[in-house]
Amino acid sequence: MEMEIIRVKDLAVSYKGNPALFDLSVELESGRLIGIVGPNGAGKSTFMKALLELTPKDKGEVEIFQEPVKKNKKRIAYVPQRSNIDWTFPITVIDTVLLGTYPLLGLFHRPGKKEKAWAYECLKRVGMEAYAKRQIGELSGGQQQRVFMARALAQKPQLYLLDEPFVGIDMASEEVIVRILKELKGEGNTVVVVHHDLSKVEKYFDDLVLLNKTIIKAGPVCEVFKREHIMQAYEAEFQFQSFLQEETFQQSVNAEQV
Ligand code: ADP
Ligand code: MG
Repeated sequence: MEMEIIRVKDLAVSYKGNPALFDLSVELESGRLIGIVGPNGAGKSTFMKALLELTPKDKGEVEIFQEPVKKNKKRIAYVPQRSNIDWTFPITVIDTVLLGTYPLLGLFHRPGKKEKAWAYECLKRVGMEAYAKRQIGELSGGQQQRVFMARALAQKPQLYLLDEPFVGIDMASEEVIVRILKELKGEGNTVVVVHHDLSKVEKYFDDLVLLNKTIIKAGPVCEVFKREHIMQAYEAEFQFQSFLQEETFQQSVNAEQV
């Protein structure tokens, strides 16, 4: 049964008076693979953080699972942008995955045999079990992202929020993660992915939220992923690109004249 799993109304977020998001209202359905797409600085990460109350809102309401966010944090796994993680922190791969089991444990309980076996299973699912004892900082970008995927799996959530999971990783890791995200959806979970590369949007997602400080368009990929909407969301970037093309054109004209 599909329902509105995320409901955002009139959201506004600013940093020291600079608006990052405004007039943002959107409803996202459960059981879908949803892409949040927009140019650099569009507020995609801010949107995800605002959903999780990791950044203060100026105004607006957010409901997840039709309740205030804090009632359902255990059911939500968040994988932040890789660039925001301190990779020098001394922790092994298996312990990183075990962290995912903490929300399921009661207060003052430590993970035991059962949790460790489950963490291994999650590592296996991302193809990283051979690296269990390694330090997280020794791994490649793609391997690190797979371990963070395993940590999210270990939490047994129903909603996954991933911020730019494919940036700076190898193709094999990207394929592993995409396959798992599709499987998770098949199992009835909802997956929301911040993504800025337009080339694979149609291949990866069911629904799309085109964002640039506010919602440009949201809905099924076939309705949203259209030239007019993309142009609107990426307006500034396109203008810059055509400016560059103009420049090169002028230069080649000048060169011919010489
Ligand atoms: P995106 O993820 O789409 O690239 P962000 O949500 O990271 O965009 O940022 C949106 C805007 O808010 C950008 O202009 C960015 O510089 C600004 N911003 C983001 N985080 C902060 C912060 N912690 N302090 C001040 N400005 C920020
Ligand atoms: Mg971002």
